[in-house]
Amino acid sequence: MNIVMMGAQGTGKGTVAGILKGELNIPHISTGDIFRKNIKEGTELGKIATKYADEGKLVPDEVTNAMVKSRINEPDCENGFILDGYPRNIAQAEELDKILEEKGTKLDLVAYLKTPTEEIIERVMARRECPKCKRVYNMVLNKPKNGEICDDCGVELTKRVDDTEEKLKTRLEIFFNETEPVIKYYKEKGIVKEEEISISINRLAPEAAKDLIDSMRK
Ligand code: AMP
Repeated sequence: MNIVMMGAQGTGKGTVAGILKGELNIPHISTGDIFRKNIKEGTELGKIATKYADEGKLVPDEVTNAMVKSRINEPDCENGFILDGYPRNIAQAEELDKILEEKGTKLDLVAYLKTPTEEIIERVMARRECPKCKRVYNMVLNKPKNGEICDDCGVELTKRVDDTEEKLKTRLEIFFNETEPVIKYYKEKGIVKEEEISISINRLAPEAAKDLIDSMRK
């Protein structure tokens, strides 16, 4: 099963992908996580990515596409993958089609998570992560047991450098201008499944993940 997670920042793509990974036993590939890891480790890729990622801008396509191509061609993707954070524009979507065609496979499902914009801003501002185990918390929806301390590691949680109101504005603009057309591109192929995720209707990541899994089993 080759799956792409789509949706604006803070909709819960990573959380849903984590649940799908457990159910389907295929890797969860988050391009944002790969960039952040490389930035932290100071690799050549990290040195390029940091200039863009810290500002909430997209890393150039040629860098991102090459990284995704090599990751998707690793042996653990033989039975499928869950891409999260890629493709982010039409050029990347066309490149992904090419990469998959060369592998003799194609996308099976695009899961599009939809959340009202006001809620997105609230959710991203409340997002924290454990710098050690990378577990993601939300200070409104999914708080740790004690203050801002990781339940698993006992380490103080941090905020992502790009989770500020100003950078989120840039990131959302990119989402609406460049990434939404990708959803249309996939809708034309008939492979999009939309999932509403909103606290206002009491429907969060676990319900969306369950619905996606049920639809795949039909
Ligand atoms: P994310 O965690 O998905 O919000 O990604 C964090 C940052 O990594 C983004 O703001 C970009 O700078 C970079 N990034 C992640 N995925 C991509 C992509 N598909 N194309 C370009 N840049 C990306």
